[in-house]
Amino acid sequence: MGLFLYLASMSLRQRIHTKICILGGGPAGSTASLYLSKYKIPHLLIDRNNFPRDKVCGENFDGRVYWILKDLMPEEFKVLDENERLLKTWKYRIWSKNLNFSFEFPKEKTPRLALKRQSLDQTLFQKASSSKYAQIITGKTYTLNHTQEGHHLKFEDLDIQADFLIRATGARKEESKPHLNYLFSRTYYQGVKSKGEDGFEFFHFKKPFRGLVSLCPLPNDLTNVEITIRHADYQCYSEPLDTLLENLIEAQPELKARFKGAVQVSKPKGISMHMASPVRFTGDREVRIGSSAFTSNPAVGLGVGNAMSGGRLIARVINDLMGQPNGLAKVPSAYEGQAKTYFRPMLRFNMVANMIHQNFNFFEPLLWVFYKLRVLNFFLKQDLKLFSVRQSLAGFWTKPPVEKIKKAEAKTPAFQS
Ligand SMILES: Cc1cc2nc3c(=O)[nH]c(=O)nc-3n(C[C@H](O)[C@H](O)[C@H](O)COP(=O)(O)OP(=O)(O)OC[C@H]3O[C@@H](n4cnc5c(N)ncnc54)[C@H](O)[C@@H]3O)c2cc1C
Repeated sequence: MGLFLYLASMSLRQRIHTKICILGGGPAGSTASLYLSKYKIPHLLIDRNNFPRDKVCGENFDGRVYWILKDLMPEEFKVLDENERLLKTWKYRIWSKNLNFSFEFPKEKTPRLALKRQSLDQTLFQKASSSKYAQIITGKTYTLNHTQEGHHLKFEDLDIQADFLIRATGARKEESKPHLNYLFSRTYYQGVKSKGEDGFEFFHFKKPFRGLVSLCPLPNDLTNVEITIRHADYQCYSEPLDTLLENLIEAQPELKARFKGAVQVSKPKGISMHMASPVRFTGDREVRIGSSAFTSNPAVGLGVGNAMSGGRLIARVINDLMGQPNGLAKVPSAYEGQAKTYFRPMLRFNMVANMIHQNFNFFEPLLWVFYKLRVLNFFLKQDLKLFSVRQSLAGFWTKPPVEKIKKAEAKTPAFQS
């Protein structure tokens, strides 16, 4: 009887075969799906959670997010923009007891975007789900086994055989160094007073304890306020992170004044993450994109840009090779080569940011000297080019003439508003 029931249930199970399966529908997975759909390549997109989901994030994104959104979904981008659900910013500020730097990206550059992660992720995922080339499964658990034919995903009522996996499952915890583990807690506040033009701000504290407070202004008078503490430093405290955040705000006169009258409009939400994980772009008949390939320090604000660029890159590589004999088998090595070159400057920048973050006492005076000598402004103007030897050398010879910059300004809608 038992065997009969087992055989009956096996025969009722649905089976699906897919050439390409994306695991994870965050910015990396959804962008990969959207570009695959653009190239008319059928695929499966699986997320273990249901959407919309609320991911803790600093919510300040680099110019690649701006361009990819405009490229993939100009209509939805316009709606986000017109409904004031995104904010364009050029400013960046770092504060510590001995420093108070304000940088401004040159306005001819693409603005940084500030918008709620929930809106961004939901917009991307919804658009990905609406494509006839994408089959979507969410909110279901499964086990994954690697077989000779590819990958076998076993759900309660479904078996999926996938030839090729795109892993976009977010940060890997198991492979990182414990001293790089950080805790974060995010709270939305309404009515935090702004300090001039809006921008991303970091407050580096040594006292009353070591921690970082970041402020990201969002549309509709909201501010994303986040506290970051190294896991090892937090172990001696019994208070929850949001109480420690309130203590830090109280301890800094400027923050105290700016938060006067501001109200919390969300419960604090926490997350832990390793600031740097070993880089891994490929596996057996699979590739990794987004934080699943490598994590970046949230302070550099490049994580979502990296994730979406990774999604775009893998779809392009698949599109280029898919038509060739045994094309999918060639994808991992082709993607690895291109990803290593493309992400090299971001990885170097991340390494420097981590080094500064972890040894702030040592770097603080150096940063002050660099700031006074205007070296930091120069760095910012060069953007990530300085972290790529080839690009930075090219940048020295091909400085854009003033006229070109003016023309670019005239064409950028952000300047006209
Ligand atoms: C505190 C904090 C602040 C940050 N601030 C910023 C910032 O201001 N700007 C910025 O650009 N970046 C920031 N980042 C980084 C950014 O959040 C990540 O780079 C980004 O989320 C990576 O996107 P992803 O799609 O790779 O992964 P995720 O966004 O983590 O998405 C992974 C998806 O995979 C799903 N999933 C997980 N496991 C499985 C599985 N086994 N099967 C199926 N689905 C699965 C999850 O449900 C999730 O939907 C911050 C990160 C942290 C932790």
